[in-house]
Amino acid sequence: MTRAKIVAGNWKMHMDLEEGKALTSEILKQLPDGGSTIILGTPFIHLATIAPMLTSHNNVVVAAQNCHQEASGAYTGEISAAMIASTGAKAVILGHSERRSYFAESDEMIYNKTKAALSQGLQPIVCVGESLELREAGEHLSFVATQLKKSLFGLSGSDFDKVVIAYEPVWAIGTGKTASPEQAQEMHAHIRKVVAEAYDSETGDKVSILYGGSVKPSNAVEIFGKPDVDGGLIGGASLNADDFIAIVKALS
Ligand code: PEP
Repeated sequence: MTRAKIVAGNWKMHMDLEEGKALTSEILKQLPDGGSTIILGTPFIHLATIAPMLTSHNNVVVAAQNCHQEASGAYTGEISAAMIASTGAKAVILGHSERRSYFAESDEMIYNKTKAALSQGLQPIVCVGESLELREAGEHLSFVATQLKKSLFGLSGSDFDKVVIAYEPVWAIGTGKTASPEQAQEMHAHIRKVVAEAYDSETGDKVSILYGGSVKPSNAVEIFGKPDVDGGLIGGASLNADDFIAIVKALS
C-alpha cells in the first residue's frame, strides 16, 4: 500500500504578506524533485496571493489553518470553506491543539468543520494529540482514539478517504521536546488500527498520518523512518526555507 507522503508547514500567525511571498519563493527555488506533497499552511490573507505562485509545481499547494463550520452567515470575522476554496487553496488544517485550547474548539466543531471543508473540495488535515498529563497517566492511546471517533468517524468511508490525520502530542508543539521515533510509531500504528476498526483495514492502511511536534532537520530522518509515519506537520521550522527544505528532503 503506497500512502501519500506529505510535508505540511503551519506558519501560524507569523509572516506578513511580503514575508510570506519571499518565503514561498525561496522554498520553491530550493524544492527538490520528488514524490512528496508539500503543503504551505499560511494565514488566510496570504492564500489568494500564494496559490497562483504554485501553479507550475503540481505537488505544492497552499492551505488555510482553520475554517468556520457554517457555509455563510452573520459570523463576524470568520472565514468559510467556500471562501478558502475560492482563493485556490486546496487544503485546511483543522483541530490544531492551539485552536482546541485557545478557541475552545470541541471535537464536534472539528467534525462540522471537516464536513464543511469536504463539501468545498478542500483536503482536511485533522490534528489529534494528548497532553502531557494524559500521557503520564497512560491514557494517551484511549484519548486519541476518542478524539478520532468524535472528530472524524461520523464521515462516510469515501469522505474519510480524503482526510489526512496529524498526530501532534500537545507537549511537543513549540516546546523543543519531540516524541521519540518509537513514541510516534506507537501512536501512528494505534491510529491506523483504530481507523481500521471504524472503517476497514484498507482504509486504515491508506490514510496518511503526519507527525507534528518540534520536527527539525536534525530529527526528521529518524522520525520519518518509522513505517507508520507518512510525513510531518511542521510549525517553527516551516518559517525558514533552509530548514523546511531539509525536512522535505528527509522524507524523500
Ligand atoms: C505545529 O504547530 O503544528 C507544530 C508542530 O509546531 P512545532 O513544529 O513548532 O512544534
